[in-house]
Amino acid sequence: MNQIWIDTHCHLQLEAFGADLAEVVARARRAGVQAMITLGTDLASSQACVQLTERFPALFAAAGIHPSEVARAKAEDERALETLIRNHPAIVAVGEIGLDFYWDTTHWQAQYDWFGRMLRLAQRLDLPVVIHNRRAHREMTWFFQEQGIEQLNGVMHCFSGQVVDARFYLDMGLHISFTGNVSYPDFRNREVVKFVPLDRLLLETDAPYMAPVPYRKQRNEPAYLPLVGEAIARIHRLPVAEVARRTTENAIRLFSLPETVLQDHEGS
Ligand SMILES: [Zn+2]
Repeated sequence: MNQIWIDTHCHLQLEAFGADLAEVVARARRAGVQAMITLGTDLASSQACVQLTERFPALFAAAGIHPSEVARAKAEDERALETLIRNHPAIVAVGEIGLDFYWDTTHWQAQYDWFGRMLRLAQRLDLPVVIHNRRAHREMTWFFQEQGIEQLNGVMHCFSGQVVDARFYLDMGLHISFTGNVSYPDFRNREVVKFVPLDRLLLETDAPYMAPVPYRKQRNEPAYLPLVGEAIARIHRLPVAEVARRTTENAIRLFSLPETVLQDHEGS
């Protein structure tokens, strides 16, 4: 085994993996991706994520209401999510939650409402949060300040902000993760990647989206995570092994993953 990697953000419950998930997980393991966190975007998909953790020991789950799903979410989903999380230790975070003013600008009030509820849920359950932020850095900063949230345990996923945004989130105690877009020739945020200290950096595929070069525009899968790590290593001018080791340590610490994920056991 070469490097050990952890894919901190993917959506393996989606239909894109309906036909060959066992193969996808096996390929990831062969690529050194020892653990994967699959994230729900609403109540039903969060339940589906939990079911996958029961089939595949390498999988962990996160449960939450994604900003693009707030219009369909029901008020009672919050309680159902809480029950789900309390009953399933394989759920290691509240996510995917956040604000998105790129895909959805009409339900902004519901977005703020659900984001606040999910942050409070994570606090009650003492779990980290996985935050989606698309075109909403100013609004999110404002929301945290307005809610009196000064420190937060979690990660800003698929980070798309500027250095000034990264600094704000890092000061709050958050981690920052990058996905396959760091490998694109037209990726503009190299200075942001460099700015994030290695002890706050996480890697993710966001599969089935955001496939790294040379798979761009194809279905992404966790086995491609090392390509994200290699792109980060080039930007930081560090050995790939160092990026793998540090980001894996960070993922284990943030999500309280069992140290057994470091063991090179065969199978699923
Ligand atoms: Zn996602």
